[in-house]
Amino acid sequence: LAILPFRNKVLLPGAFIRIRCTSQSSVKLVEQELWQREEKGLIGILPVQDAAETTSMDSMLSQGVGSESGERSSNVQVSTSDAHKVDGKNPSEVIHWHNRGVAARALHLSRGVEKPSGRVTYIVVLEGLCRFNIEELNTRGPYCTAKISPLEMTKSEMEQVEQDPDFVTLSRQFKAIAMELISILEQKQKTGGRIKVLLETLPFHKLADIFVASFEISFEEQLCMLDSVDPKVRLSKATELVDRHLQSIRVAEKITQKVEGQLSKSQKEYLLRQQMRAIKEELGDNDDDEDDLASLERKMQNAGMPSNIWKHAQRELRRLKKMQPQQPGYNSSRVYLDLLADLPWQKASEEQELDLKAAKDHLDCDHYGLVKIKQRIIEYLAVRKLKPDARGPVLCFVGPPGVGKTSLASSIAAALGRKFIRISLGGVKDEADIRGHRRTYIGSMPGRLIDGLKRVGVCNPVMLLDEIDKTGSDVRGDPASALLEVLDPEQNKSFNDHYLNVPFDLSKVIFVATANRMQPIPPPLLDRMEVIELPGYTAEEKLRIAMQHLIPRVLDQHGLSSAFLQIPEDMVKLVIQRYTREAGVRNLERNLAALARAAAVRVAEREQVVSVSKDVHKITSPLLDNRLAEGAEMEMEIIPMGVNNHEISNAFRIASPLVVDEAMLEKILGPPRFDDQEAADRVATPGVSVGLVWTAFGGEVQFVEAMSVVGNGELHLTGQLGDVIKE
Ligand code: ADP
Repeated sequence: LAILPFRNKVLLPGAFIRIRCTSQSSVKLVEQELWQREEKGLIGILPVQDAAETTSMDSMLSQGVGSESGERSSNVQVSTSDAHKVDGKNPSEVIHWHNRGVAARALHLSRGVEKPSGRVTYIVVLEGLCRFNIEELNTRGPYCTAKISPLEMTKSEMEQVEQDPDFVTLSRQFKAIAMELISILEQKQKTGGRIKVLLETLPFHKLADIFVASFEISFEEQLCMLDSVDPKVRLSKATELVDRHLQSIRVAEKITQKVEGQLSKSQKEYLLRQQMRAIKEELGDNDDDEDDLASLERKMQNAGMPSNIWKHAQRELRRLKKMQPQQPGYNSSRVYLDLLADLPWQKASEEQELDLKAAKDHLDCDHYGLVKIKQRIIEYLAVRKLKPDARGPVLCFVGPPGVGKTSLASSIAAALGRKFIRISLGGVKDEADIRGHRRTYIGSMPGRLIDGLKRVGVCNPVMLLDEIDKTGSDVRGDPASALLEVLDPEQNKSFNDHYLNVPFDLSKVIFVATANRMQPIPPPLLDRMEVIELPGYTAEEKLRIAMQHLIPRVLDQHGLSSAFLQIPEDMVKLVIQRYTREAGVRNLERNLAALARAAAVRVAEREQVVSVSKDVHKITSPLLDNRLAEGAEMEMEIIPMGVNNHEISNAFRIASPLVVDEAMLEKILGPPRFDDQEAADRVATPGVSVGLVWTAFGGEVQFVEAMSVVGNGELHLTGQLGDVIKE
C-alpha cells in the first residue's frame, strides 16, 4: 500500500479529512496512486510525529502533508518496530513513524497549479476505512510503500465479540452517553435527529471511531484510539472521551447560563422599575426619576436661559432622558443640567434707587475714619447712580490684613442693596480654578466664579476677588490671564467657563478686589483696576475703632452687653500697646474676644444659679399639685419655663458688671507680649539709636547699636541686614 505520512494527526476509520498535498513525494503519490488510475485505489495514512512536536496541527492545510518526511526517511533503514527514528536534514528533528495506520479511500480529488512556480498541488478528500499493521516499510521509492496486514475483524469474529457480556454492557454505556451528547448537540444546533439515525444503524465499535474523530483531542489520545484494535478497549476509551466532552459542554453551558441569568436579572429589574413607575403614576406619586427629570426641565424652563443656551440644554436633557440612571455619565450629565438650571441667567437682586446719603451713613456707621476712601467709594456709587451701565473701574483695596478691606466691600454691596459674594483667590495656581475643568475630565467642576454665582443665585452681586495678589502661575496655566478676561468689560459679557461650555454674561457683576501688596499683581491686571490704598491705623485710630465698633460687636457676638462687661479705654490702650503690633485691627479684635469669652464663662455660671431658683419656683405650679395630690404616677410633661433673657438680665442687674483691669488682662491674655518700655530702656544705653522700618504689614522699630572697639578705623556691619538698610 502506498503510504502517505500524516504529521501529528490521526485519521480514524469512518472519519473524513481534506488535505492539500504540496511536497514532492506526496504529489507523486497522489498522482500515481489516485489521479492516473481509472478506479480510485486505496492509500495508507500513517501518523508521524515530530519529536519536538512543535509543528502545529493544521499541517494538512498549510504545508504539504508529510512534506519532506519522505526525503528525510530515504536514507534511513526502517524496520517494523513500534516507532522509528529518522534522521532528517535537521539533526535536531527526529521523526517517529507509528506502526499502525488507516487505509483510506479518495472521495474527491482536485488538481491545481501554483502560479509563479508552476508547481502542481492536489487537494484530496479521504475517508478512513480500516486499521492496518505495518509489516515492512519501504522508503526508497519516490514515495513510501509498505507491506501491511489489515486489522479488521471478520464477520464471525465480530459476532463472537457481540455475544460477550462485557461488550454488551460497554456498548450500552456508550449508547447512553452518546445519546445524551447527541440530544444536547441537537438542541443546540437543531440538526433534526440525523445523528440519532446513525446511532441506530451503525455498529458500536465503528461509531466509537466516528465520535472520537469529531472531538478536538490531543495527538496522543488520537494515537491511543488508533491503537485500540480490540472493540472492547475501543468502546471504553470512546466512552471516556465522549463523557469528557459532555462534561466540558455542560461546564460551558453553566457559564453561559450564569451570564444569561445576570443579564436577565438586570432586564427584570428594568421591567420592575417600569411597572413601579406606572403604579406611581396611577397613584399620583411624584418623586421618582421621571418626575425628577420633569422637575429638572421645569427648573430649566424657569431659569430664563438665552435661547441658544436653552437649545443646548434641551439637547443635553434629551440625551439624559434616553439614559438609564445606572448608566455611566448619567450622573455627570444630571449635575451639569442642574448647574445650568441653577445659574442666575437673568435673576437679579432688585436694585433700589441709590440713596447716597444713606450709603454714606452706612459706610460711616460700619467704619471709623478712612475718610478719603469712603469719599472715593461714594464717588464710585454716584457715578453708578447716574449711569448704571457705566463701565466703571474695578476697585482694588490694597493694604495689610485687618484694615477693613473685606468689610468695605461688603458695605458697598449693602449700600447698593445687592448680594455679596467673596471668592478667595489666595493660593490659586491653576487656571482651571477660575475657568473650570472640561466635562470630559472625571470629577470636573465649574470654576470658582461660576460656582460663586450659582451659590449667590443672582447675576448682579458684588463679587469680592479676595487676595488677588496671591495667585501664582505654574505649568497648569496662569489664573491671572483668566482674571483679565473676567475683569475686562469688553470680554466678560461672554465669559467662557470650560465646564459650562456656554458663554455666561458677567457684565452685571460688580467686581471688587483686595490685595495685601501691589507689587505681585501682574501689570495688565493692575491696569484694569483702580487701586485704593488702606495704609493701616495709628494707635489712636485703633482705640477709636475698638471703642466704637469692635467692643459693641464682640459683646453682641458673645451674648453680652455693657451691663456684664466693661472694657475701659485705658485697658484697650494697654491691649493695643502690649498685646498687638499690627497695621490692622484683627489681633485687637481677637484679644477683645478673649476677654469677652472669659466674661461669658462667669456670666453663664451665674445664669445656672438663676435657672435653678426658677425651677424651684415652677414646681409649685397648680398643675403639678393636682397630679401629686391624686397620687397618680408622674408623667413627663413639658412645662414652659417662662424665663427670658430679660428676666435673667434683671437677675444680673443686682450684680455689678465685670470691669476689666490690668490684673485681669494679664490673667486672661497672659504676660504682655510687647513692652512699650523697651524703647526707652534700649536708648538709655549710649550708642543706641532708633530706626523705623516700613513693610506692607505695618511699621517696625529697630534699634541700631554702635560700639567702638580697638582697630584701624573700619566700619563693620553685623546682623541680617539687607542692601537697602546697609546703605
Ligand atoms: P481685611 O479684609 O483688610 O483683611 P477685614 O475687612 O476682614 O480686613 O477687617 C477685619 C476686622 O476689622 C473686621 O471685623 C472689620 O469690621 C474691622 N475693621 C477694620 N477697619 C475698621 C474700621 N475702620 N472701622 C471699623 N471696623 C474696622
